[in-house]
Amino acid sequence: MTDRYAQAVNSGFTKTLAKKLGLPRPAILRRHRAGDPLTVGPVLVLADAASKGDADTLAQTLLGWDLDVRRDPHDDLRWGAVVLVLTEAAEPTAVTEPVLATGSVLRALAGNGRVVTISRAPADDDTPALAATRQGVDALVRSLGKELRGGSTSNGVVLTDDVEVAHPSVVAALRFFLSAKSAYVDGQLLRVGPADAAVVDGTGWQRPLEGQVAVVTGAARGIGASIARTLARDGATVVCVDVPAAGESLATTANAVGGTALQLDVTAPDAGQRILDHARERHGRLDVVVHNAGITRDKLLANMKPAQWESVVAVNLAAQLRINEVLLAAGIDGLRIVSLASTSGIAGNKGQTNYGFSKAGVIGHTRATARLLAATGGTANAVAPGFIETEMTARIPFATREVARRIPSLAQGGQPVDVAEAIAFLASPVAAGVNGQVLRVCGQHLVGQ
Ligand code: NAD
Repeated sequence: MTDRYAQAVNSGFTKTLAKKLGLPRPAILRRHRAGDPLTVGPVLVLADAASKGDADTLAQTLLGWDLDVRRDPHDDLRWGAVVLVLTEAAEPTAVTEPVLATGSVLRALAGNGRVVTISRAPADDDTPALAATRQGVDALVRSLGKELRGGSTSNGVVLTDDVEVAHPSVVAALRFFLSAKSAYVDGQLLRVGPADAAVVDGTGWQRPLEGQVAVVTGAARGIGASIARTLARDGATVVCVDVPAAGESLATTANAVGGTALQLDVTAPDAGQRILDHARERHGRLDVVVHNAGITRDKLLANMKPAQWESVVAVNLAAQLRINEVLLAAGIDGLRIVSLASTSGIAGNKGQTNYGFSKAGVIGHTRATARLLAATGGTANAVAPGFIETEMTARIPFATREVARRIPSLAQGGQPVDVAEAIAFLASPVAAGVNGQVLRVCGQHLVGQ
């Protein structure tokens, strides 16, 4: 599950050779470590004329995080990040100056740098010029993601009209995108709506899930085990769920995170009730459910056996629907559900009609469930990983695997922790304004972007 090519072109003699031959050199991505600075250098905050007030507000927030915040692109610095505030830009020409100012500092952007836009979502009553400006930001962010080098990324926070820039979920999304926790998230825009969210400050950012109980399915290995570790790091007590056959590794994960193990096939008819009972009886509450358990049974549809279709849909989709019914009926205040989708559920993938159907289905039910949970202050979101280095992807034939790794803008596969960090963000109470969204963790995979 290691990317030997990326290792070779970044170390020793093979690094020099790769440079000489002009081979692509995927950057070593900076990942979160406790105590490390939030960004790799000073943060430049830019805005169009009408958005200066919002930019001032956000600059104050960044200063509160002890960042070196600047407002002048002419400062001769190695920048850690650019925050481009376009919330009040009302016509396309309004963005010209701050966008070109962003361009003027890109050569001085440090490796693993960040560009984050803050803009507004198009609304039904927008004038054509306003709608054009707001929509324009979408492919500005995605195009820039394809241009940046050295592990730098471009992402955007998109506010609905009824949300102020100081909303805790806007601030939390900005912090996530600036941080090393979003190492493998690139070219993505995350929408924030008006739901109430508690303000986080100071040490609150270190353990946003303190006192909360989270269930993670498929936690014995791979992405699920990493989610369990990350949620525990953030303060949650974690219930680790997996099939009895994976009991030994399940116990290892549960012990490592100081949580409990629940041996359970998520397709069992009573799975939802057993999850709810276990969480309440052992830990007194349930706040977060991460639907991570998933399988692949790849076949061209012409050769697909009924069991191959049925098992994938049963584990990846039907189980989530059935468990969610029980959770919704329990009327838990502020419940957060995060489901694993996939870029295959967005763009489709040869040999994966079953898997693609199931993962697109996850996106569909997430949006519908989000509306149902909003009434009780809860959220449902999905994370769509691209190519992540796990046992699941280690089974892909070598040549296909190598192509899949190099296609994303970041030219490498992601690590399970990259998916886990995105899930931990969406599972945190401060992300309450993010509801019904699909966040891709795919290094800006070319397909479906
Ligand atoms: P994995 O195969 O390494 O781990 C999946 C875990 O789910 C295993 O521990 C397995 O025992 C468990 N599981 C399977 N069926 C179950 C059931 N019926 N009940 C309970 N547990 C069950 O997979 P992974 O790569 O870690 O993937 C985790 C999730 O991420 C899956 O939903 C997968 O579809 C999704 N995903 C992975 C990638 C990737 O590149 N690895 C990409 C996109 C999406």
